[in-house]
Amino acid sequence: MTVKSVIEELDALYPEMIELRRHFHQYPELSHREVNTPRTIANYLENLGIDVRTNVGGQGVVGHIKGGRPGKTVALRADFDALPLQDQKNVPYRSTGPGVMHACGHDAHTSALLTAAKALAKHQKDLKGNVVLIHQFGEEVTPGGAKPMIEAGCLEGVDAIFGTHIWAPMPVGQVGVTSGPMMAAADKFKVTISGRGGHGGAPHLTTDALITGASVVNHLQQIVSRRIDPTEAAVLSIGTFHSGQAFNVIAEEAVIEGTVRTFSKHVQETIIAEMERVIKGVCDSNGASFSLDYEKGYPPVVNHEKETDIVRQCAKRIVGPEAVIELEPNMIGEDFSYYLEHVPGSFFFTGAGNPQTGAVYPHHHPLFDIDEKGMLNAAKILVSAALAFLNQD
Ligand code: MN
Repeated sequence: MTVKSVIEELDALYPEMIELRRHFHQYPELSHREVNTPRTIANYLENLGIDVRTNVGGQGVVGHIKGGRPGKTVALRADFDALPLQDQKNVPYRSTGPGVMHACGHDAHTSALLTAAKALAKHQKDLKGNVVLIHQFGEEVTPGGAKPMIEAGCLEGVDAIFGTHIWAPMPVGQVGVTSGPMMAAADKFKVTISGRGGHGGAPHLTTDALITGASVVNHLQQIVSRRIDPTEAAVLSIGTFHSGQAFNVIAEEAVIEGTVRTFSKHVQETIIAEMERVIKGVCDSNGASFSLDYEKGYPPVVNHEKETDIVRQCAKRIVGPEAVIELEPNMIGEDFSYYLEHVPGSFFFTGAGNPQTGAVYPHHHPLFDIDEKGMLNAAKILVSAALAFLNQD
């Protein structure tokens, strides 16, 4: 078996890939409530003679292609959940589910991986090593599906993992790779400050939660600028501040909400500890009390160097060297991060934007669509990265 023959196989399977994608697109299912999607996936893989485990960690489906020759094991991952959005596209494959839509391209990930499985299964006898197909539920909503699937053993015996996100902001034909931090940890927090309300004309009898809150906002801004190493990236943004009810009443409570984005556990932990310290200090000095509700999102996606280089080389062969872009890290979250905490691997973006096919809207938009050629590129790069990993000495 040559990589070239499997790639040609995928070219031949492209019409089927489109058909699958449009089917999933018409019948989207919300995160953690997927029923028919995992069933369709499992049936497809079973029909190929692939060993399948269902209900892995929830609604996950894991296929196992055992190669005819001994070797390592590589995993490929695709997520399959949709979003609570009304599809506003005027296309024959528009969502039939009211208020549910594949507005992030997970339908394309799923179809790319299914057809990749078909192409690989055909060459099972010649395959050196094994390929694990991880079809993941619930990526969009924390806690995502990756963690419970790992706990249910989907990475057992796996030596490396690859995954991609179809990316509409990037033109079809391009691929984005990066070694090291790629996507941020996206956390959210809520600070509730409690004082003692009272008459605006008698402030000495009160503990002003609004003034305390204003001071907390100011001091929180100094954490990134004065406590974090300037060569590290971090964001602490405050999005809401609510306090007070009447012009002549001292506020009893102030509620502040915001988000923290980081690329390393160390920076994240430092920010959390500093937030506790700063808020406590300000509240103590004002005689107010507080609670900090800090909710961690997905950890940062940090790609491994060797596996990223495999993706880079494969992508260059598929789309041409000049079409492979070195990405800057972005502040969006992805639960592919959990896999990378367990095994080496790489996550990459596959361009799918094209004004000529109407693929000009951002992800999570009611008119979101892709140029389906991006899906074919995704499948080809995933398959060639898997084979490159298995065939290396
Ligand atoms: Mn997504």
